[in-house]
Amino acid sequence: MNSPATCSANIKGKKNNIVVTEELMRSGSAGLVAGISTLDLALPPIINHGTLEQKKRFAKPVLAGKKIAALAVTEPSGGSDVANLKTTAVRDGDHYVVNGSKTFITSGTKADFLTAAVRTGGDGYGGISFLVIETDTPGFAVSKKLLKTGWWASDTAELFFDDCRVPVENLTGEENQGFYMIMENFQNERLGLCAMANMTGQLALEESLKYAKEREAFGKKLTGFQVTRHKLAEMATLVEASREFTYRVAARMDAGINQIKEISMAKNFATKMSNKVTFDAVQIFGGYGFTREYLVERLYRDNRILSIGGGTSEVMNEIISKMIL
Ligand SMILES: Cc1cc2nc3c(=O)[nH]c(=O)nc-3n(C[C@H](O)[C@H](O)[C@H](O)COP(=O)(O)OP(=O)(O)OC[C@H]3O[C@@H](n4cnc5c(N)ncnc54)[C@H](O)[C@@H]3O)c2cc1C
Repeated sequence: MNSPATCSANIKGKKNNIVVTEELMRSGSAGLVAGISTLDLALPPIINHGTLEQKKRFAKPVLAGKKIAALAVTEPSGGSDVANLKTTAVRDGDHYVVNGSKTFITSGTKADFLTAAVRTGGDGYGGISFLVIETDTPGFAVSKKLLKTGWWASDTAELFFDDCRVPVENLTGEENQGFYMIMENFQNERLGLCAMANMTGQLALEESLKYAKEREAFGKKLTGFQVTRHKLAEMATLVEASREFTYRVAARMDAGINQIKEISMAKNFATKMSNKVTFDAVQIFGGYGFTREYLVERLYRDNRILSIGGGTSEVMNEIISKMIL
């Protein structure tokens, strides 16, 4: 699964990447997909902007399934306001000295290295760079493994850097150009989250259809109630509309067309859809939908992060409104 094809497809070949995400999501474990997908978040900055040496040293072993990479952007003081990140990397001879912390980092407890956003320059978006920080660097620590509502199959960590000395050759891309690389990377991540939301909705729909055809109330199947049939019809319509929209955006991204507005719309549409569809699925299952025995309960929990991670719904709406006003 950690194949070169998967990752390079993500950089050029979004449709292939969607297929991989959809099929992995069929396992019913979005946490598994989140864990595996960290290579798709951490490697593109290296592959797109790194040196040949960095590609060999860092990307190659991850693609070979021998190492784990994580993307470290979010900090305890705030994830939405990326331009304000506070972890510093101060040049000292042929090293950067890194101090600060990151949080919510997927695969953070297991990663061999982090593609980390750090402040190398002044305040604001113009002072950010990407550094590859190996997790065996003295001064690095996993300060906490976070307990989450969903995505239990993936670890999420708070990380700490105390005078970590990182060689200057680990700088990925140009110094102080990291903000643009983060924004570029987000487009990719958002597409992956669309695919996850779409398949979450699809699975919740399929489970609900099966259950509604079997379960009886008042002497008839749930499908005998118009209210249930209409709920299922609406769920099916939303899932299909969202999937088609995502596919269109992916095709346009592959064609090199700017889709910053559209991918933000697609993420909000897909996650609103999956919020509604997983909610309705649990409703159709009644009390059983609230138990660990049925997939819809897990889908409902795992789904909650999709409208938060990779840029919240509110941040997506900010992007969209700036582009249409
Ligand atoms: C399970 C999980 C895995 C994650 N994995 C990673 C990872 O691998 N790497 C990584 O770097 N990050 C990761 N994240 C972090 C994720 O991207 C952030 O949680 C997200 O960007 C939101 O940041 P925040 O949590 O700090 O919320 P905040 O930025 O504090 O936002 C709080 C609330 O304020 C709202 N808000 C903020 N700014 C605005 C605004 N301008 N207008 C309107 N509303 C606003 C938000 O929408 C939100 O509702 C992960 C998070 C989780 C929970």
